[in-house]
Amino acid sequence: MTVFQQIIDGEIPADIVYEDDRCLAFRDVSPQAPVHVLVIPRKPIVSLAKLEDEDEALMGHLMVVARRVALDLGLENGFRTVINSGADGGQSVDHLHVHVLGGRGLSWPPG
Ligand code: AMP
Repeated sequence: MTVFQQIIDGEIPADIVYEDDRCLAFRDVSPQAPVHVLVIPRKPIVSLAKLEDEDEALMGHLMVVARRVALDLGLENGFRTVINSGADGGQSVDHLHVHVLGGRGLSWPPG
């Protein structure tokens, strides 16, 4: 059971900024930018590496929600979306999530 599954199940609180029948978006507990939101599917997909062909529409939905959340939270000047996958990708929670970061200039490449 991941911490994100506990948030989906309402077992632990989260600062939810958007939700629908397929996904949730909530503020990251350790924000790396003035706006830092995670968009997650309700379906317990472990990582991008474990995505299946049948998840194609769901993945597209997550990206549309990421755009919606970013603009709703005032990131008209730009934002970054990140999906960390696996150990070398820096993934720490084994439930697929899209980071949406903005509100300051972000450097590239990441570390
Ligand atoms: P990643 O390292 O890409 O797997 O990202 C996991 C993110 O989840 C990190 O940015 C954490 O700060 C965030 N996180 C962990 N636990 C919680 C929680 N209970 N509520 C909100 N964000 C969390």
